[in-house]
Amino acid sequence: MLKRLADRSCGDCTACCEFIPIRSPELDKPSNTLCPHCLRGRGCTVYEVRPQPCRGWYCGWFFLADLGPEWHPSSSGVVLRPEAIENDAITVVILRRSAFLLSEAFAGAIGAWVAAGVTVSFERVGPAGHLPAKTEMNGLLAPAIQQRSLPELHKAFSWAIAHIDNHHRWEPDGLTLRTELTETTSNSFQSRSVTPFAGQS
Ligand code: SF4
Ligand code: SF4
Repeated sequence: MLKRLADRSCGDCTACCEFIPIRSPELDKPSNTLCPHCLRGRGCTVYEVRPQPCRGWYCGWFFLADLGPEWHPSSSGVVLRPEAIENDAITVVILRRSAFLLSEAFAGAIGAWVAAGVTVSFERVGPAGHLPAKTEMNGLLAPAIQQRSLPELHKAFSWAIAHIDNHHRWEPDGLTLRTELTETTSNSFQSRSVTPFAGQS
């Protein structure tokens, strides 16, 4: 079982309260739509009564001790889905084209995972209300990793992102924004917000 690292926190990040779709008895929230209970940069305003799917979900940065602070989703623009990490698969959700994607830290980790046989996928979020899309990267990255070529790795990263963005037919997630949750006191903002893993295309 993945062990959460004690020195990690969400800080001002609220990414997973926006890009992940949620379907629960108390809350329906479409993909890539900020939850009506989330204050960007602050967190959940209904933390004590948040729906079940929001409880206990942490992105991969909370579990991988080798990843430094530069991987924090707020600065990197990258979120690691945690669900399959124990099964040697990592999905890298690329929220934006940040400078971090060109860093040695990013290339080094991706290259090391692929070289170790971990299945690495890149995922992009779609338009609001549409499911995300992902593509497996191992085959694409193998030549660059063999050549130990950073420019070739960057070329492959860029190609994969553009390929998803330009060629994927985004599918609606079928969710309409609905909530039965009542806000708690305005002083109860949490620096921590948690959301579920939900559908992928
Ligand atoms: S768990 Fe969610 S809010 Fe917290 S750092 Fe990860 S993506 Fe951001
Ligand atoms: S934890 Fe859940 S209810 Fe709270 S802001 Fe995030 S998505 Fe919304």
